[in-house]
Amino acid sequence: MLALLGPAFLLLSCSTKTKVDLLIYNASIYTVDSSFSVAEAMAVSDGKIVETGKTSDLQNKYEAKDKIDAQGKFIYPGFIDAHAHFVSYGQSLFTVDLYDSKSIDELVQRVKDFDSAHPNEAWILGRGWDQNKFPGKSYPTNEALNKLFPNKPVLLGRVDGHAAIANDKALALAGVRAGDKLTGGEIETKNGKLTGILIDNAVDLVSSKVPQQTPAKLKDALMEAQKNCFAVGLTTIDDCGLDHATISFIDSLQKTGDLKMRLYAMLSDAKENFEFAFTKGKIKTDHLDVRAFKVYADGALGSRGACLLHPYSDQPGWSGFLLSSQQHYDSVARIIYEHGWQMCTHAIGDSGNRTMLTVYGKYLKGKNDLRWRIEHAQVINENDFKLFGEYNIIPSVQPTHATSDMYWAGDRLGPERVKGAYAFKQLLEQNGWMPLGTDFPVEDISPFKTFYAAVVRKDAKGWPANGFQMENALTREEALRGMTIWAAKANFEENEKGSLETGKFADFVILDNDLMKEVSEKLLQVSVLKTFVGGERVYDTK
Ligand SMILES: [Zn+2]
Repeated sequence: MLALLGPAFLLLSCSTKTKVDLLIYNASIYTVDSSFSVAEAMAVSDGKIVETGKTSDLQNKYEAKDKIDAQGKFIYPGFIDAHAHFVSYGQSLFTVDLYDSKSIDELVQRVKDFDSAHPNEAWILGRGWDQNKFPGKSYPTNEALNKLFPNKPVLLGRVDGHAAIANDKALALAGVRAGDKLTGGEIETKNGKLTGILIDNAVDLVSSKVPQQTPAKLKDALMEAQKNCFAVGLTTIDDCGLDHATISFIDSLQKTGDLKMRLYAMLSDAKENFEFAFTKGKIKTDHLDVRAFKVYADGALGSRGACLLHPYSDQPGWSGFLLSSQQHYDSVARIIYEHGWQMCTHAIGDSGNRTMLTVYGKYLKGKNDLRWRIEHAQVINENDFKLFGEYNIIPSVQPTHATSDMYWAGDRLGPERVKGAYAFKQLLEQNGWMPLGTDFPVEDISPFKTFYAAVVRKDAKGWPANGFQMENALTREEALRGMTIWAAKANFEENEKGSLETGKFADFVILDNDLMKEVSEKLLQVSVLKTFVGGERVYDTK
């Protein structure tokens, strides 16, 4: 009996090891839990985290189908971009890339090159120009585009998406005429002639005439966007403003398994989207969350469409404008409040922000957990910061906007007012937590650039030497939380993602260097070795 018991007992003790899908060990795992603890190993099963702990403990406890020796590398929760435009980023990859054009001639040359490479496109679309990078910093006109393309419509978006240049053919197709006026937009006219420059709502007059993309092309755009985003460690993206048909298409691609990116999709402020939302109700799958509306208060600072309390310092008499009427914001807030959805409003100027803080306050009344968000919260009057705390309004900010705009923000705002701009630390203090994003394709998709801009507040060349308005820099831990657990919280998803804890999705990245310890000059070189979504390897440098 005894002789038989020995081996049987051994067999039994081996089989008591719990089977898991994946065990990662010899790592520095920043769990981003409440005590910011660091673990060495992590066990994963069925797409979720089973346990984190010491390498020896987890090796003794678990038997894994797949094992990864991390060789001392650094693991972080998958990055969440709390404000981006995933769909339009994907689409932009298939249009003329105008980012960092140094002159109007260069812009035109890039359009010409694109047209030769894609002669069958009915429209030439592009994005990314910024007149602040042209000599003289003035807006381009459409003259050269009219000469080159008399019969083909051309529409080229500014980097911020809040202005565009259209050629005469495109303007004619949209029925835009010199002297036309509209609410929340500007059609630039000089000497009685259209220049082609369209600001804010005026852009929609032309963009609404662009033929709808085929599902096949849209799928290509999303797949390409996903590939690039996984390569920089993003595992959840907030897409800030989509129509319901696009969201349904995304849902179908996620259900077939093609699209593995998790998305928090905000519906755009349009009648048919409200009907869709309140008929269908909130949508929640492992990959998709729809429970929010995106509204626009004003435009952007770069195109002087941001609504300011006092005139622009570099354009006397001009204060920008709101994109809709006060009454519209009020009625939208009321209906969103009544249905228990989340309201997320783009507000850049101090007047745009004050308008929305006041409308929000009317419905939220005092402390609450509805997590209504102000997207960008870019220029805040010193008297208004406290309203974020009073009504628990969540500022959702983009650190790279600070380092992209710092060259000219002072010109637009003047030396006093600029102190209330990109005031991330002051905003963070209002609620004690704050999500971070990029607003890509306005900025680059890289979360490392967000981290660097939030903490170091310099450009890639190390300018300015002492950092831009450093009193508003975030600590590394705050920046990391903003890109992970606080971003999850802004989406009501803090119980399922944003940190590496038992029961949460196994969404994580393995980095070659340590974001928390790398010297600031080298932070932008930190890169992703592998990205996992739900325990599945979706990007690997090997
Ligand atoms: Zn945006």
